[in-house]
Amino acid sequence: MKLAFVGVGDAGTRIVDRLVRAERASGRSVSDGNVLVFNTDDAAFRAATAVPDDRRVLLGDTHPAVRRRPDPAEADAVDGAEPADGAGDVDETEAYTSEIDPFGVGGDPETGAAVAEAERPEIRRALDRIDETEVAGTMLVAGLGGGTGTGVGSVLLEELDSIYETPVYVLGALPAATEPDRRALTAARGIRTVVPLADAVFPVDNEAWRRGDPVTERYDAINDAIAARVLALFGAGERDPESVSELRIDPADVTRTLEVGGVASIGHATRELTPDDAGVVTRLLRLLGIADAPESDGADADAATVKRLVRRALESTLTLPCSVDSADRVLVILSGPPDAISRKGFETGRYLLEEETGTVEVLAGDEPVPGATEVTATVVLSNVTDVPRIDEIQRRAVAALDASDAGDDGTTVLGDAADGAADAAARSAA
Ligand code: GDP
Repeated sequence: MKLAFVGVGDAGTRIVDRLVRAERASGRSVSDGNVLVFNTDDAAFRAATAVPDDRRVLLGDTHPAVRRRPDPAEADAVDGAEPADGAGDVDETEAYTSEIDPFGVGGDPETGAAVAEAERPEIRRALDRIDETEVAGTMLVAGLGGGTGTGVGSVLLEELDSIYETPVYVLGALPAATEPDRRALTAARGIRTVVPLADAVFPVDNEAWRRGDPVTERYDAINDAIAARVLALFGAGERDPESVSELRIDPADVTRTLEVGGVASIGHATRELTPDDAGVVTRLLRLLGIADAPESDGADADAATVKRLVRRALESTLTLPCSVDSADRVLVILSGPPDAISRKGFETGRYLLEEETGTVEVLAGDEPVPGATEVTATVVLSNVTDVPRIDEIQRRAVAALDASDAGDDGTTVLGDAADGAADAAARSAA
């Protein structure tokens, strides 16, 4: 399924940059160059070299609250002078800070929204660069705890909704527990804003994915993991159809899985194939001219392999950890050499998912990759409602509002924390 990638803020810029790199490396073309990034500070732009210059839109030049980072070139040019605070060293380390830095909109989503409102014409002109006839949907990518991500992002989402007939999905990084309360508050508001507007939201749990390290040190690894999952899901049908398969994933199954709306989560597991694997044996036997015999022999081993792989995908760190049995619809995509995925293996994987998730709406498809040396299972859980991390961010946000004496209107701003955004999403989808 072809998708335009629209990144907003630092997180959105970096993740879209990774998506574009991963597309090139994997030979799967999802965006076909339909890429844009928006930001109010250009530090992340400088590192996002996979996104062409004419696809980067810097907003906020005329807004009085937007602070521009000193230009490193100018700072260096002042002969013998020490660079001013922060100037001249806008490297990756500086761009990777989870403290709220003062540049751009300084972490304030209201300023972000005001900047975007003031520059709607500029935003619309930029969105014209996306060829709507080439894509079947759009993925807006942002850090939901960010002033630009949530502030500019919510205006962009409104625009995308009003321009495009095709689905608009949001991929939003959630702040880690170690980040300031203000990030949690912004993310809680962001979730409540984007879930009803987007066709589906893929929150990414930075807390689970940082694996105990400072979150900033894990951005690259998290972004690579996100890119692998997004491409495995949306890129599965986009390889050249060198190999036909009756089980081949239908892009309509992806939209059908996500059309229930709300919050979605992705699991992913890969297994290197060894010479002992049934598919390889099958291929060898076929090469030797024994065409029929191996199917039944190999199929049991293959089915067991696929079942284990699907279980591992379900038990892997999901993009958003959740109770898998709270999903409304499930999609599984098996990718690998055609011989490694028999119909029996396929059905076994699907049956396992029906049992584990308690849903009968399990869609499935495969992506035959001739010559691949690994098999991958990607599982999408759609409209999940039992998501502890979102509940926790909502609770943190309400506590932060209480502590700042603005607590009186905390629940009206955020809704009832106990309900959780995912529940709200489920209701709005119903
Ligand atoms: P913005 O530019 O004002 O939108 O703010 P940022 O994007 O810098 O940060 C917003 C949130 O996104 C914070 O919670 C960060 O932890 C998170 N974030 C920032 N950069 C990245 C990134 O590259 N990857 C991931 N996964 N999260 C990020």
